[in-house]
Amino acid sequence: MNYRQPVGKIKETLLSTLDRVFGVSLENATDEQCYKAVALTVRDLMAAGRSEYMANAEKTHTKQVYYLCMEFLLGRSLKNNLFNLGIEEDFRKALAELGLKLDCLYEQEPDAGLGNGGLGRLAACFMDALATQGYPATGYSLRYEYGIFRQKLVDGWQTELPDFWLPGGKIWMQAIPEKSVEVHFNGHIEEYWNNQYHVVNHKDYTKVTAVPYDMYIAGMDGRGISRLRVWAASSAEFDMNLFNSGNYMRAMEQNAMAEVITKVLYPEDNHLEGKSLRLSQQYFLVSATIQDIIRRHLFKYSTLDNLPDLVAIHLNDTHPVLAIPEMMRVMLDECGYGWDAAWDIVTRTIAYTNHTVMKEALECWGVELFQSRLPRIYQIVEEINRRFCAQMHEKGVDGYKVGRMAPLNDGYVKMANLAVVSSHSVNGVSQLHSDILKNTVFHDFYTEMPERFTNVTNGIAHRRWLNQANPGLAGLITGLIGDSYIHDAAQLQKLGRFADDASVLGQMAKVKRENKLRLAEYIKKENCMEVDPDSIFDVQVKRMHEYKRQHMNALHILSVYQWLRENPNAEFTPHTYIFGAKAAPGYYFAKQMIRFIVDLGNTINSDPRVNQKMKVIYLEDYRVTLAELLTPAADLSEQISLAGTEASGTSNMKFMINGAVTIGTLDGANVEIHDAVGDDNILLFGMTAAEVDALKPNYDPRTYFNASPAMKQAVEELNTGFCGVKFNDIADSLLNHDPYMVLADFDSYAKAQKKAETLYGDAKNWQRMCLMNTANAGRFAADRAIREYAENIWHAQPLPEDAAEKETPLKRARLGRKSK
Ligand SMILES: *Cc1c(COP(=O)(O)O)cnc(C)c1O
Repeated sequence: MNYRQPVGKIKETLLSTLDRVFGVSLENATDEQCYKAVALTVRDLMAAGRSEYMANAEKTHTKQVYYLCMEFLLGRSLKNNLFNLGIEEDFRKALAELGLKLDCLYEQEPDAGLGNGGLGRLAACFMDALATQGYPATGYSLRYEYGIFRQKLVDGWQTELPDFWLPGGKIWMQAIPEKSVEVHFNGHIEEYWNNQYHVVNHKDYTKVTAVPYDMYIAGMDGRGISRLRVWAASSAEFDMNLFNSGNYMRAMEQNAMAEVITKVLYPEDNHLEGKSLRLSQQYFLVSATIQDIIRRHLFKYSTLDNLPDLVAIHLNDTHPVLAIPEMMRVMLDECGYGWDAAWDIVTRTIAYTNHTVMKEALECWGVELFQSRLPRIYQIVEEINRRFCAQMHEKGVDGYKVGRMAPLNDGYVKMANLAVVSSHSVNGVSQLHSDILKNTVFHDFYTEMPERFTNVTNGIAHRRWLNQANPGLAGLITGLIGDSYIHDAAQLQKLGRFADDASVLGQMAKVKRENKLRLAEYIKKENCMEVDPDSIFDVQVKRMHEYKRQHMNALHILSVYQWLRENPNAEFTPHTYIFGAKAAPGYYFAKQMIRFIVDLGNTINSDPRVNQKMKVIYLEDYRVTLAELLTPAADLSEQISLAGTEASGTSNMKFMINGAVTIGTLDGANVEIHDAVGDDNILLFGMTAAEVDALKPNYDPRTYFNASPAMKQAVEELNTGFCGVKFNDIADSLLNHDPYMVLADFDSYAKAQKKAETLYGDAKNWQRMCLMNTANAGRFAADRAIREYAENIWHAQPLPEDAAEKETPLKRARLGRKSK
């Protein structure tokens, strides 16, 4: 489909949309109304494109990919869609002729913050890659009325404000009420044998309606359009039957449940919250989704027998794992399948990605809660469990081992076990993480079914994170190597030719400086602080978590500060330390870490002995839009988690492609970043995952404390405190447990930091390092990750390009051909 239109036509559409939808003329329209008029115009284009795309997919029976995830951290949509459809400049021109600035309209859009961090952002990046490469895909999630909270720091303490994103964000979504489905909770099960049929009746359930809202995500050049279908809970119309039969409470209960179920996103990242509302959200998502998928498939093919050939269902982490028993339920209770046939179809359709090995994040649900809220699903889980254990016993597997693998054990439903038992593929998200899965959490499974386990290293939508976020660098790259890297990020490799080209290095440095100035302006506006654009911009942005060790970074800054205030005239490379992170609202220690960094910053920034040389900036409300401003401006990318704890990381990839040098541990995808750039272009420090494992049983943080005077002085000042606040909690934790081994890695980190300053001082070599990072970042494109999922796990093919479209004027223009 051709998305380009004459500028005059765009203007006409915008004016008529303003009039038709908002009843205003251009003169009276607010920027917000103009943004919405543009968004509606783009949405209509994508809706048309999606129809055509799906019609071609249907014709060719191309396999559908369904990506289930409780979180999609989309950020803004307008710029991404205009850019990918190749119509940004046309719209810019049309708006300019109407006296409007496109870039101002971009600022009107709120972030769609329907996620916490890396997991949700990954899902969003994957929608882009699926569309760009022509895999017909639908993402499924929930339409939270409130996404991730807005963070406000009050005297360094995080407070949470509601995220009112719908007024500006829902313009992208279209309700499809006629595709609503019912989801049933609570109640009890009646089972009986009726002649030859086993009949199961779910009685007295609470019924909630799931209403789908669709939004579209355009792939590059509009080759494909992904759909994100998010479900909103709504009360089935007030149940008069219940009311009349005197069941007033249950009628009310249904309304109450519908009211809360999609109200708010749980703000915990890498942490499980065993609340019944969370379980209801999960079941609500998967029940609506599975019913939707099955309904569509039956409508088209009248059977589910061929489902695994035509449909791939992917579970992003354990949050949507109830899709497995839900699919069994629909097939058994509603479609007349027997257990074995249903199980065969389910397990050949579903695949699962694991995202963490940390115990506090491995989901399990108490049987009592689970059974009362989801009685039929519980029965099915019991049967899955019974059959799995029987099969293992029959194989002669040791009883303890069977217990460790069982989906039901110790009074808990273990979601990761249920996922592994029921999926045809289980993958981790970096090579190291996938190896750890095989050797630890899923070791028992791995020894019984090794063929199920694989790896797909994460990737990022490089068009968003490089081309859109850093147009200066993208333009420079295109000038040097052409634009084929936009579709094929591996082409970035060609930049390597310019590693010793002083002119190219100079131009890259100039772009970086401009990006740093842009960020400096934002910092001035938001934090009322002046930062030196020639200082090292040293950035750690990600969720606040002990395992990510922001407190190690801060402790090191404190120790640098202690040294510099004693030696104010010493040689020192000016350094700007930048942080951004939200903490889970109930995670007290993480909130203390934030306050520590903020108060340390206030102390340093106002100390005239040092503040011309070092500054510490904490940016409020870290989110996708802020990440887009930060990543192009970073010199150093902090990726300092304890080895073996970060599954992959994706911000490490965003920084790398923007030419920042990683200072990091050999954790997650940092290992592969190191492989890609070599020893000279990364600053590694600290223990390896194997060394962590070896040290852990006998770890005593005080050994390290006593051996390092600088560390000792820094930890001790935590007890004195800053700005009148003492940080004994942090000091005590470090000295007594130090679960993430900050003290063991501290000296090594300090050494790497010193090395960074020395290297930064040699500008030409530093710029060379930056270039080598960009040049080798191609393998971390989401396109590559999606190809691996498609080929190795989903066995899905892209829609043939010629089926998708005939040659369009846009394509002709791109290929430089004359139109006929
Ligand atoms: C990429 C991204 C993340 C993930 O960061 P990690 O350092 O990989 O944990 C989190 N939040 C936002 C807003 C992001 O854009």
